[in-house]
This record gives sequence, structure tokens and C-alpha cells, in this order.
Amino acid sequence: MGSHNVEPTSMMNPLYPEEFRRQAHLVVDFLADYYSNIEKYPVCSQVKPGYLTKAMPKSAPLQPEPIETILQDVQKHIIPGITHWQSPGFFGYFQSNGSTGNFLGEMLLTGFNTVGFNWLASPAATELEMVVMEWLLKLLQLPKSFSFSSDGGGVIHGSTCESFVCTLIAAREKKLSQSRVERDDLGKLVVYCSDQTHFSLQKACQVVGISPNNIRSIRTRRSMNFQLSPKALLMAIESDVKAGLIPLYICLTVGTTPTTAVDPLLTLSDIAKRFHMWAHVDAAYAGSACICPEFRHFLNGVEGVDSFSFNPHKWFLTTLDCCCLWVKERIDLTKALSNDPELLKNKASDTKKVVDYKDWQIALSRRFRAMKLWMVIRSYGVTGLQEVIRKHVKLAKYFEALLFADNKFEVVVPRNFAMVCFRVSPLALATVANDSSNEDSNRLTQTLLESLNGSGVVYMTHAVIEGVYVIRVAIGSTLIEEKHVSMLWDMVQEYASNLLANFNNIK
Ligand SMILES: *Cc1c(COP(=O)(O)O)cnc(C)c1O
Repeated sequence: MGSHNVEPTSMMNPLYPEEFRRQAHLVVDFLADYYSNIEKYPVCSQVKPGYLTKAMPKSAPLQPEPIETILQDVQKHIIPGITHWQSPGFFGYFQSNGSTGNFLGEMLLTGFNTVGFNWLASPAATELEMVVMEWLLKLLQLPKSFSFSSDGGGVIHGSTCESFVCTLIAAREKKLSQSRVERDDLGKLVVYCSDQTHFSLQKACQVVGISPNNIRSIRTRRSMNFQLSPKALLMAIESDVKAGLIPLYICLTVGTTPTTAVDPLLTLSDIAKRFHMWAHVDAAYAGSACICPEFRHFLNGVEGVDSFSFNPHKWFLTTLDCCCLWVKERIDLTKALSNDPELLKNKASDTKKVVDYKDWQIALSRRFRAMKLWMVIRSYGVTGLQEVIRKHVKLAKYFEALLFADNKFEVVVPRNFAMVCFRVSPLALATVANDSSNEDSNRLTQTLLESLNGSGVVYMTHAVIEGVYVIRVAIGSTLIEEKHVSMLWDMVQEYASNLLANFNNIK
């Protein structure tokens, strides 16, 4: 025993500690330089499709290559093909902001590389996840019923889409076990959402086997700020029940993707209860803001739903991937997703007193994501995280005020968080055009967006809501300062003035 020499002495050992130290330092230096220089790169990558295939060798290298050479190629070939989500000029989609605390946590979890599918496979991974989820539960003032100390609990998934799939399966199995619904009736199950609900719900329904004919995407209106109307929901459910269908699940959204609309949770969850449906709240983007007391009211009514999720990988200084999901009855989730293979049998699991997170998700293996979330929360503290949210909301308010004061533009929906939706005002257009219509305003707004993005200095994306084309300005890059918003405003004004002046020529 012990006669084997397993000391890593060879430089060729892929985890030889001194080489690990040297090379990892080089990568950290590389990234620090990247963040220092990030504003020099075009925010949205300008490469042509296939650019990298042409630049790369056709076969993998036979011999090892030094890190210095590889990093040179990252600089030369990879960076030009990156859309710089961490740039302060990035206002597209919803941000995916990062932080030093997160990066260090990600290093630790990758370094440990544990596979904590059950408690025993890495007790710290499971228990830290439970601790962090309870911290966040308190921070968001979620109801006690979602806590491990009641019948609920929280889990970290990779994405909202995964949380949709898991809660849909839990709802399906619950329905099958409770009512006189047979497996043959699966084609009768109906899922409800609004036309503003994130499109990944559709995919989750596909995965779970909900008939595409049984997804009710209820139309919302600008006059109601794109909220899901309880009246319209009730009508849809009643008509389905009359037709012999079975209401299963409703997805409510706090902070919709097109416009950050907030559905009225209390009224809608009451309706869900009446029909024994599962209600889920998707707060992927806006959930983070609700750690500030002044925004918590957006979650009022959450006590009435069965599950709630939000993405720290959007607005909580945490990088991909990280979606936090809480359920009221953890047994619903574990009953639907657990298995008990001989290979994993152990005394701790047999006691049923530990959490085995493999039973809370799709995959077996799982990353130690709680490590990075724990590092983020400890590195910045609750006050630091609240400051970040407030800073972004303040900058969005500032940008919105500039738009309001200029009659060239129209703020199309009320701003709830740190995203502003605007367009070139049809009224401004009418003053320069021989004749103008909503289509003209759409076209001009789209041209404005394309020319702004073409500058390489900023990047934004769009939405079309009730036939209106809007530019979405999502403020939330970690590196953003007031000067970046001022610069955006100067550009928006200059480009819009030019387009308006030439409107009759380009029409
Ligand atoms: C971004 C977003 C999603 C999708 O999140 P993933 O984690 O990428 O699946 C879902 N819902 C809303 C409201 C979103 O903004």
C-alpha cells in the first residue's frame, strides 16, 4: 500500500499545480485586459458567416500547443467574432451581467468539478444550494410556503426553459394522480399563457407532450399595458372545459420580454386555483429587481402560485447559467422526476432526510452553481446588489426623461424596470412627410435601429407589439456609467434627425 507514486511530477499532467497556476494567471490577465479595452471593439460582431471555419486548421493539432499561442489566436480569431455582451454599449435583449465575485465563484466550482447529483456525491454542493436558495427566498420576501422549512424548496436550474419543463411535468403528474384523468387523456391537457409570454414556454410544452392545439396564447393589448386579462383567461378556460378539455398550467410573467409588462398575479392565480391548475410565475429578468423594497410590489400575489423562477444570469451579477426555481410542494417535483437506481443507493438518501437534487431537474449530473451565487451575494452584500439595480433603473429613467422631452420620439409602453421601449413618433413624422402612416413610423424606427447598431458603438434589439415596431433599450451592463447613456442619447438624436430630414428621399 502507498507504494504507488501518484505525485504529479510531469509537466504533461493536465492538472500539474505549478503549470495550472502559471497558465491560469495568464488567462486572468488576458481577461482583465479584455475588460479594459472592451469599448474598442464593435459591440455586435461584424464577421461574415463561415469566417472562423476558414481561419482554423481543418484537423485538430497532434502535438500540445503553449497557452501563449492559443491566447494569441483567441485575440486574433475569436474576439472579432464575439458580440460583446459585457460592453457598456450593449443594450440588447436583456443583459447577462457578470462580476468579479461571480468569476471567482465560477473558477472555484470549475476547479472542484464536483458532480453533486445527490447529497452524498458532494454534501457541500447540495447544502450550499439550499442555503443560498433560502437566503434569496428571504431577500425576495417569497412566502414561507416556498421554504424548505415548510413543504417547499428551491433548486438552481440552467435556464428558465428547464424550469418550465420540470414544473409542467410536475403539474402533469399531479393531475394524473389526483383526478380521474388517465394517461390516454394527456391530449386533453391545456396550457395557458399570454401572447407576451416567453417563447420558450412553447418549446417546453413540445418537450412535455402538450398538444400544440392546446396552448392558449391569450391576446394582450397596448391599452392594458400588455397584461394578461383575467376576464379573457376565464373565458378561454370556460370554453375549454365546456369542450371536455382539462386546464393544466398557466404561466404568469413579471417583466415580459418584449415590454417588461407585469401580469396581475393575485387575480390570475385565484382563477387557476378555481380550476385546479398549476400556476407558475416567470420573473426571469425582473425578479432580481424585487430584492429592492421599492420594487417588491411587482411580486404581490406570488403567494397564490405553485412555483416561481428568476434568472440571476440576467440582472444579478451572475453569469450563465443560473435560474432559481422555488416550488410550494417539493413532493410534486420529486415524485415526477425521481428515480432510484441501485448504483446511487446510499444510507443518507435512504433516510429521506437529505435533498437529492437529481430529483429536482432533468439531467442527473449537475454543476455546483450555488458556489458562484454564494460568492456574488457575499462579495457585494444585499446593499451592493440593490445599488446595482437602482443604478440601472436610475439610468433608464434618465434616458426615458430625455425621450419624453423630445417630440421626435414616443415612449411606447410605461417603463417598469430598466428597459425603455421607444419609437420615432408618428407625429414627428407627419411634420416632415408628405403623407405618413404607422408603417412609415415602423420602417423609420427600424432604419434608425439598424444604423445605430451599424455604428458598432451601441447595440440594441427590437420588438413588435400590436403592430408597432419599437427599439428596446435594456440598461444593465455591469460596466455601464451615465456617460454611456448620454452617448447613446446623442447618437439616437443625431441619427433620428438625419433620417427625418431625408425622410421624403428615402421613402
Ligand atoms: C430571458 C427570458 C426567458 C428565457 O430564459 P432562459 O433562461 O434563457 O431559458 C424566459 N422568460 C423571460 C421573461 C425572459 O426574459
